[in-house]
Parts: sequence; C-alpha cells; structure tokens
Amino acid sequence: MPEGDTIHHAAKRVGAALTGRDIRSVETPHPRTRGERWPQRLDGRGVRSVDAHGKHLFIRFEGDLTLHSHLRMTGKWGVYRAGERWRRARRRAWLVIRTADHEVVQFDGPVLELTTDSRTRFDPHLAGLGPDVLAPEFDASTFLTRVREDDQTRGIGETLLDQRNLAGIGNIWKAESCFLAGLDPWKPAAQVDDDKLLELVRNVRPLMAESVQRGRPGKPWVYERAGLPCRRCGTLIRARGQGDDNRTTFWCPGCQS
Ligand SMILES: [Zn+2]
Repeated sequence: MPEGDTIHHAAKRVGAALTGRDIRSVETPHPRTRGERWPQRLDGRGVRSVDAHGKHLFIRFEGDLTLHSHLRMTGKWGVYRAGERWRRARRRAWLVIRTADHEVVQFDGPVLELTTDSRTRFDPHLAGLGPDVLAPEFDASTFLTRVREDDQTRGIGETLLDQRNLAGIGNIWKAESCFLAGLDPWKPAAQVDDDKLLELVRNVRPLMAESVQRGRPGKPWVYERAGLPCRRCGTLIRARGQGDDNRTTFWCPGCQS
C-alpha cells in the first residue's frame, strides 16, 4: 500500500503539472467515474493547489470543488509529458486531466470523489485523521493525546499504523520506525513512554522526507527481510501478522526489545 511519502511525492508532481496551468480537458473514461459529470462540473476551473494529508491526496479547483483520492492497495497517480507512454493500461484510467504539457492520470481508484473543501473538513473520516507524519511542523501534542486515548494494550506497531493516531505511516515505516527506536513492535502502548513515542516519529520523518524527494524509500533495515540476518547485529529478522488487519510486522529480536 502506498504510504504517506509516496502520496506526498505524487502531490508534488501532480501539483507541479496542474497548479495555475490552463486545464485543456478533464476526462472520466472508466465506468466507475463516467456518469459523474465531472468534465462539466470542472469545465473552465483552474487548479488552486494540490496537497496531501497522510495517505489522502486533494486537488483543489477554483470555486470550492476538490477531488479527493485514496489509493488503498491498488490505485496510482501518473504524471506524463504530453504524448508520453502511460505505465498502466488505458482501460485502468479513472480520470485524465490534460494541460498543454502534461497528462495527469488516476489509475484504478479505488477512492476518488469530487467534493468540496468544506465537506472535506467535516467528513468524519478525514476530520478524524491524526497529525500528518510529514507535516513541516509535526503536531506532537495531538499525536500523544490520540495515542493515550487509544487502547493501551495494543502493540505499539498496531498503534502506529492506526491513521487516527498518526496519518501517513504504513507497513514499511511502521517496521522501520520501531527498528530505529530499538522498540519491539509487540510491546503494549502502555509500556512505551512519551519520549519514546516521539522518537518513533522523529526517526522516520527525515527518511520519509527523503523518499518524497526521490520517489521511493531507501534500503530497509527490517521491512520484507524475514529470515535474513539483521544488518546491524546478525540476528535473523522475524515476521508475523499483527493487529485486526493482520498486516505483517518485521522486527529484529536482537536489536528490538
Ligand atoms: Zn539486529
């Protein structure tokens, strides 16, 4: 699943291609978006800005209309120079926005809606998101409050993955963050003090910011390295499903306690 760094990277590229540019056309070729009249509703409107919060991306048009996207496991944003070959099949495109120079394409949804700025502010799911791990000024106090209001018996790995506590962390950064803090992802939240919680965030922020710039994360310490020796201590990396969604957690029993 694309995590916050991937979405912020996409927002940067989509924003550079669309913000303040003359929009030539908006097309909705896919059966899921075809009947929505977006081309008519967006006709003649420029893009004011493109931003991300956690794993959510927003394209804000003039006149209070906002496209909201969440890629879940399958979706993708593509930004291509006019005439450049797309990296996914045409039939998978839900939305195509064209300028003189670029084609911005949303492939495979699965969450793509045209809404308004005010509705995004009051949508209970969006309003309930925790602070964005990649925000220039990280909101540490809200993060700590949310974690402490959450179930304290859950493992800290599961706590970090819950977007209501912290928006933008997914399976990769959950595993890497716990490794860098030397923290066993199965340790109950109650046994992790506030300093350690903030350290979890502090360690991954620069790595995620680097990934926003490059478009991909660096070499992982533990993520998808089950059965391989830890690059720090040589202990074999372990993996096991964690939490309600049974997402695989990777950790080094030698480095993390
Ligand atoms: Zn180790």
